[in-house]
Amino acid sequence: MSSIVIIGAGSSGLAAAHTLLDAGHTVTIFEKSRGVGGRAATRNRAGFIYDYGANYIKPGAPDSVELITKRFYTPDLIDIQKPVWTFDGSQHIQEGDSTQNAEPKWSYRRGLTTLSRKMAKGLNIHLSTHVARIQQQANAWILYNDAGEVMGTFDRVLITIPANQAKFVYSALKDKGKVTRGWLGVGIRDISALPPGMAKTFNFTGTTGVLVEQIAPSSPVAGKIQTGDIIVGFNGQAVDDSNQLRNLVAAVATGFVLVDLESGRVRRLATLERVDPTIRMNDGKADPWGRFWAGTMGLDKRPGAGTLYCLEPDLAVRVELDQLTISNGLDWSADRQTMFYVDTPTQRVDRFHLGPSGLELRDRRPFASLAGLVRKPAPQHICMTTRTTGIRVVTRAGCPRAATAATARIPAR
Ligand SMILES: Cc1cc2nc3c(=O)[nH]c(=O)nc-3n(C[C@H](O)[C@H](O)[C@H](O)COP(=O)(O)OP(=O)(O)OC[C@H]3O[C@@H](n4cnc5c(N)ncnc54)[C@H](O)[C@@H]3O)c2cc1C
Repeated sequence: MSSIVIIGAGSSGLAAAHTLLDAGHTVTIFEKSRGVGGRAATRNRAGFIYDYGANYIKPGAPDSVELITKRFYTPDLIDIQKPVWTFDGSQHIQEGDSTQNAEPKWSYRRGLTTLSRKMAKGLNIHLSTHVARIQQQANAWILYNDAGEVMGTFDRVLITIPANQAKFVYSALKDKGKVTRGWLGVGIRDISALPPGMAKTFNFTGTTGVLVEQIAPSSPVAGKIQTGDIIVGFNGQAVDDSNQLRNLVAAVATGFVLVDLESGRVRRLATLERVDPTIRMNDGKADPWGRFWAGTMGLDKRPGAGTLYCLEPDLAVRVELDQLTISNGLDWSADRQTMFYVDTPTQRVDRFHLGPSGLELRDRRPFASLAGLVRKPAPQHICMTTRTTGIRVVTRAGCPRAATAATARIPAR
C-alpha cells in the first residue's frame, strides 16, 4: 500500500483517486481551484446553466461507462438524442458535425460538474491548494506550496494537470529531479495544436500564437492576462508558439532591457550573472546618480532566492544585496546619504547609509514597520514624501486575485 498524492481534481484526478483507493492505497488530492471538475466546468447565469469547457461525454472505455452509468449514476444524466448545434466566432449558429451528432453523447441537467461533484464525495481533497514545487528524494516525493512550505511527503505522485503543463513538469523532474512553479502558474497551448475551429471561438483567425488556458491565482501575471487571451507578440517580437514565448519571457526575466516605447523594440543591455529560470526580476528604480537598481525573486517566493542588482551607466552589473526573498521598493533621500529598501516578507522599510558615490550600502537598520498597521501588510513599492521623515508605501491588500493597492503612511523611526 502506498501513499499517493494526485495533483488536480479534474475528471482524470477524481477517476484515478477511486481506482487507487479501490486498490488499497491512501490518496490525497491537491486542487488549485475552489471547486472540482477542471476543464469540465459548469456555470450558472441568469437562470441558464452552461458548460464552458467540455460540453458532453461520449461513451468511451468500458470502465468509464461503468463509472458514469452505474457507480456514480444520477438521474440528472441525460442521453443527448438531438443534434448538437454550434456557433462560431461570427455568431453563426448551425447544425454541428453530422458524424459527431450521430454518436451517442451524455450530459447532465445541471451541467457536467454534476459528475465531478458526485465523484469527489468522500475523497481527501484539498481545494484552493496550488502545488508550486515537487522534489524527488530517495524514496519519497515532497510537495511545496507557493509560500515554500512543505505540503506533504508521499510515496508516489500522480500529475493530472493539462498535458502541455505536465510535459514540462515531466522533463524538469527527469532532468533536475525537481520542478518549480513557473509554467505550472500559467497554462498555455499552441494555437496550431488546437482542435480545428477552436481558435475561431475566441474570435481569432490567425494560425500561430499561444492560447492562455489557465492562470494560477498566485502567478506573477495573474490580473495582467486572462484565460482565453491569445498571445501573438511579446515586447515587440512575434510569438508563434509556446517555446518561443518561454524563451522571450526567460530572456527578459533575467536581465536588463531597454524598451523603445514608440516602436516596442527591445534591446538587451545586460544579463544577470546568476541566470536561473526559477528567478525573475521584480521592482527597479533609477538612483540620483543615474544608475538603475532592480531586485529579483524566486517564482515560488522561496526565502533567500532574491538578489539586488545595480546597473551602472557603463552597463556593468553589480550584486549589491543577497539572500533576499521578494526584492521590492527602492528610494533615496534628497541629501543622497540614505537608501530605503523593502524585502516584502520582512514587512519593513529598511534604510542604508551610502558612501559618497552612492554605493557601499552600510549600516542596514529598520526605518519603519508595517506589522500590525494594515491587515496582512505586504509592503511593495515606496516613494519619499518628505526628505527622510515620511515614506509612502504601497501594499498589496491581501486579496490574491484583485491585487488591489492600498497606501499607508507609516511613522518613521
Ligand atoms: C473548450 C473546451 C471544450 C471541450 N469539449 C469537450 C467535450 O465536449 N467532450 C470531451 O470529452 N472533452 C472536451 N474537452 C476536453 C476535456 O475538457 C478535458 O479532456 C478534460 O476535462 C480533462 O480532464 P483532466 O482531469 O485530465 O484535466 P483538467 O480538467 O484540466 O484538470 C486538471 C486539474 O488540475 C488542476 N491543477 C493544475 N495545476 C495545478 C497545480 N499546480 N496544483 C494543483 N492543482 C492544479 C486544475 O485546476 C484542474 O482542476 C474540452 C476542453 C475544452 C477546453
